[in-house]
Amino acid sequence: MGGTREVLAGITTVRDMVTAFADEEGCRRLLEAMVWPRGRICPACGCRDSTALASRDVGRRARPGLYQCANGECRFQFTVTTRTPLHSTKLPLRVWLTGLWLILQSDKGISSVRLAEAIGVSQATAWRMGHALRLLVTREHQLDGTVEMDEFYIGGSPRKDADRPHLGRGRKGQPRTTKTPVLAVVQRPTQPGEGVAAGDARARVVSNLSECEARRVLSENVDVAAHLMSDEWKAFVSIGQAFAAHDTVRHSDRQYVRGSVHANSAEGFNDRVRRTVAGVFHHISPHHADLYFNEIGFRWSQRVVSGQAVRRTRRGRQVVKPLWYRIAPALQLAAVFRSAVGRQLRRTARGGIQIRCTVAVLG
Ligand SMILES: [Zn+2]
Repeated sequence: MGGTREVLAGITTVRDMVTAFADEEGCRRLLEAMVWPRGRICPACGCRDSTALASRDVGRRARPGLYQCANGECRFQFTVTTRTPLHSTKLPLRVWLTGLWLILQSDKGISSVRLAEAIGVSQATAWRMGHALRLLVTREHQLDGTVEMDEFYIGGSPRKDADRPHLGRGRKGQPRTTKTPVLAVVQRPTQPGEGVAAGDARARVVSNLSECEARRVLSENVDVAAHLMSDEWKAFVSIGQAFAAHDTVRHSDRQYVRGSVHANSAEGFNDRVRRTVAGVFHHISPHHADLYFNEIGFRWSQRVVSGQAVRRTRRGRQVVKPLWYRIAPALQLAAVFRSAVGRQLRRTARGGIQIRCTVAVLG
């Protein structure tokens, strides 16, 4: 993996990327090193012993990239894309790596229309490529340490509709609003200081902002040993009792920060989600929204603190804010493919996608 990291670290410009991903054979080796950082693993049984296969049509020479599991009961034949979101792809691997690099290089993501233009595939293919990335960057581990949570809505303001004259806004209007409620949880960096990575961030669509839904999202995404931070919304308050600690700020009293007690990171993440949805994807169906949130959360986590800056708030108060730099997109690719095996995405007859499995067999 040492050589791979050097190759990836050397990719900073579009020209570097084009050179690095020029030949298919090199791309396959690069992908193998990223998918199997600790050596090949059989996607069927998890066996770490396998042999390169000599195929009939290439004489006695091994067909590059085809392997067979050495477990006598398994003998499964596989390649680097088997049982990953790239399973049985017809696209060359260099097109995949180029497309994924371009998506990661962009600040907030690329619409499938623009990606299709850039790499010369159909819009449907580019759309599935984006979803493959979103599935690859899904993370299952539970957030711990200090975890902020916040709720928000996506979707534009409700349209004025003569048949439904009084659409509500926000929490109190929840039965009447047409916006989609979302709950976000954001893990704070483990410690202050330079070189520390941003924590993971997740957002999930909920059917409503009820205590029951909030409990579901937290139990799936946050470890009970976590220290929660939120506003004083009453659903959060009672749920917080299940966790190691829970502090709240009273937004109703215009209190947003009390020492280290705040939900500013979660609010920052929410803001990023809203701007990404509005600016890049325009509209995402609630059905696929969690996948888009995975991409936004992954981008959030691929940042490192580079220093601190003193800023003034609008009221003139001094605050110390961390400055961030982004991990290079090519190096992010290694994190993207690290948990590829086991995550499966298939195309449906109608050109859509079906997620077969979201759980990775860790390579
Ligand atoms: Zn096997």
